[in-house]
Amino acid sequence: MKIGKYSLGMGDRFGHQGEAQLRSIVRAATGGVEIVPVWNKSNREHSYIHSKPEDTRIEADAAVKALSFTRDYFVDADHINLSNVQGFIAASDFFTLDVASKIGTPSDDERTSAFISTCTNYSGILTIPGIEHPFEVSDQLLNTITRKFLAAIAEAGKIYNFIKEQKGAENFVTEVSMDEVESPQTPVEMFFILKMIAEQGIPVQTIAPKFTGRFNKGVDYVGDVAQFSREFEEDVLVIDYAVKEFGLPDNLKLSVHSGSDKFSIYPVMARIIKKYDKGIHVKTAGTTWLEEVIGLSLAGGEALELAKHIYKSALERQEELCAPYADVIDIRQNELPSAAEVDQWGSDKFANTLRHIPGHPDYNPNFRQLIHVGYKIAAESGTLYTGLLEKHHDLVGSCVEENLFDRHLKRLFNL
Ligand SMILES: [Zn+2]
Repeated sequence: MKIGKYSLGMGDRFGHQGEAQLRSIVRAATGGVEIVPVWNKSNREHSYIHSKPEDTRIEADAAVKALSFTRDYFVDADHINLSNVQGFIAASDFFTLDVASKIGTPSDDERTSAFISTCTNYSGILTIPGIEHPFEVSDQLLNTITRKFLAAIAEAGKIYNFIKEQKGAENFVTEVSMDEVESPQTPVEMFFILKMIAEQGIPVQTIAPKFTGRFNKGVDYVGDVAQFSREFEEDVLVIDYAVKEFGLPDNLKLSVHSGSDKFSIYPVMARIIKKYDKGIHVKTAGTTWLEEVIGLSLAGGEALELAKHIYKSALERQEELCAPYADVIDIRQNELPSAAEVDQWGSDKFANTLRHIPGHPDYNPNFRQLIHVGYKIAAESGTLYTGLLEKHHDLVGSCVEENLFDRHLKRLFNL
């Protein structure tokens, strides 16, 4: 099972927007770019919403059927590990093996030296075709990289084999993710990580490194765009070389996690993948939930009241809601509107404050990030929330579709 060149990961916390999301993919195809839809949901999201992996499968199948979509689509067990993969086996055909927590766990000396002994061809001066400056791979560097990553990739091998035994190797796509860590992996680290992945026999098709800069949830990239550009281009070239050197799948591509709303680096990514004729996977999730809140605010009446309630509760419960996302949000307290202020707002003011239109005078990324982590409040509202989603299905759906197509796919794929 091979995933196509361009793919978009779409998360849908409450499971109501599958069709609207798929419409954005269909519009891209009409515009000449085929993008593979992948519905992703992590164990954490399932546990907050009290949903099951089967629900994501049912939603994806239903959306595909409703739109008579005939191309490939996938259901991604996002950020799974050995402790929770079992629950995803039946419903998923894309598995994101998350080994971030094992990075830095040293392997025993025997395994470490066995791996290092297979790297003699690449030690000293390492030249990657396309990258002008050669890399210096000292024994010490090789030793450090091996100690940092070998055990994590061995763990990925265990998870992969567990899935393979139950599903059969041909029946799923494998991603390896290392994005939820503090420090970015360098291109040299990426090269040796891919060697380790090949030696574990993992037919990896997408790899999610941690990139330089901040990928905060639902808002634009924060960091040095020029440095990101260099690193991204080197990663693309390292992958290309590693595929040939280590016999990895020839469609192996980068996966960009927390990839929604990173508008300032989309042109960079678009330029580089076009330059080398490479594919890409971009994972989005919470941006769809934010569009639900925008749609409800535009609907007015009780729906606007619920949108306000979500913000005001989130404001009160900030500490609790932000804790699990501490590394991926940056909220400036003094720029958050007060509850009393928001109470005075009409539909347009609320929607314009939340909607991600860079440069719009009302847009407030602090407000947006706080609501991003507030989906637990909507989950607690139960059928009040989902009932309003259903009542305003068309309006909310048009927000979801517009966001993915106009703000994301158009920028990412030059549509
Ligand atoms: Zn991720």
